[in-house]
Amino acid sequence: MMRSLTILGATGSIGASTLDLVRRNRDAFRVVALTGHSNVAALAELAREFDAEVAVIGDEALLPDLREALAGSGVEAAGGASALVEAGHRPADITVAAIVGCAGLAPTMAAIEQGRTVALANKESLVSAGEVMTRAVARHGTTLLPIDSEHNAIFQCLSGNNPADVRWITLTASGGPFRDWAADRLPGATPAEAVRHPNWSMGAKISVDSATMMNKGLEFIEAFHLFPVGVERLRILVHPQSIVHSMVEYRDGSTLAQLGPSDMRVPIASALAWPARMETPCDPLDLAEIGELTFRRPDEVRFPATRLAREAVIAGGGAAAVLNAANEIAVAAFLSGQIGFTKIVQCCEDVLACGLPTPPQNLDEVIAVDREARIRAREAMEPVR
Ligand code: NAD
Ligand code: MG
Repeated sequence: MMRSLTILGATGSIGASTLDLVRRNRDAFRVVALTGHSNVAALAELAREFDAEVAVIGDEALLPDLREALAGSGVEAAGGASALVEAGHRPADITVAAIVGCAGLAPTMAAIEQGRTVALANKESLVSAGEVMTRAVARHGTTLLPIDSEHNAIFQCLSGNNPADVRWITLTASGGPFRDWAADRLPGATPAEAVRHPNWSMGAKISVDSATMMNKGLEFIEAFHLFPVGVERLRILVHPQSIVHSMVEYRDGSTLAQLGPSDMRVPIASALAWPARMETPCDPLDLAEIGELTFRRPDEVRFPATRLAREAVIAGGGAAAVLNAANEIAVAAFLSGQIGFTKIVQCCEDVLACGLPTPPQNLDEVIAVDREARIRAREAMEPVR
């Protein structure tokens, strides 16, 4: 059966992995909308290759270029923030939400409002919007399938079980490129070192988040919203090989885990085909070759990000949106050489310490909290004069 598919963030790493699967299963999917932020050439090429109905460029100033690049293709061109939201609204059986950051929130919410299936990679949108998003999912009867490998693993391990029987949900973490670095070396870590992830090839922002462990912090908040077993039943375990993608322990002592290669096409395929399965070109799992799977407790002294995330969940309201916004600003500042590595999480802690906003009740209020926290983050990073 042919299913229609939209990819918000088609030009990124998750977009590329998704389209790789579509390319290998051309009979199974028809592409509705593809979006990108600023890479007109890449977006136009993908839209032509997959014969999309519409291609949307986030940066509206680039719309004339996109029109030109798509001339004669039959693909409609659109641009700007409202066009991204319209792309989310355009009917599609599955929408893959793969824009990075809170920039993906409004388009993802638009896709949720369709009441069909949203495959979520854009964790920042759920972290920021929290209950506003989960309420919309419930109200519209939407199927929300996690693509984030840990959450996809947990989703699979929970399937067929009663959430009331869960003793622990354990999110595994690779620990990132600096997991074995001494604390005094971390302030000198460079952007080039931070984006060189040992196991996964990903966009720059999530790679830095993995290095600070803020990725695991955001995933902790993401898990809190996706799997309502209570914050006290969620924990994090460092697993350097990234083979066990997460696990669920039940009250009878059974632990179910999902294992697989460190290849995002596995969780993406699981979401695209759910509840069936589809073929992927990923290497089969060769545990004899891997030899050892090791685990250790996270070190929240060297990597305080997961502590901040847990505190934000417990504080509730807009705390997670503030944390996410501050982190986005700080990561961008780190990548452009304005602040040191350890200042990223320090900035988040400083902004959270400024006080918490009134809990946002709808999308506009979440966006307002996000915007305000960004301003405070920029202030927090300014050098003391
Ligand atoms: P990426 O940087 O490779 O791609 C991001 C996409 O978002 C691109 O298409 C880009 O054009 C678009 N984009 C960026 N800023 C935008 C803006 N302001 N407006 C509109 N579009 C914008 O990132 P990625 O690694 O593909 O990650 C995408 C999302 O998936 C992130 O939320 C990330 O946390 C999550 N995720 C990624 C991986 C991975 O392996 N890459 C794994 C799990 C979760
Ligand atoms: Mg993940």
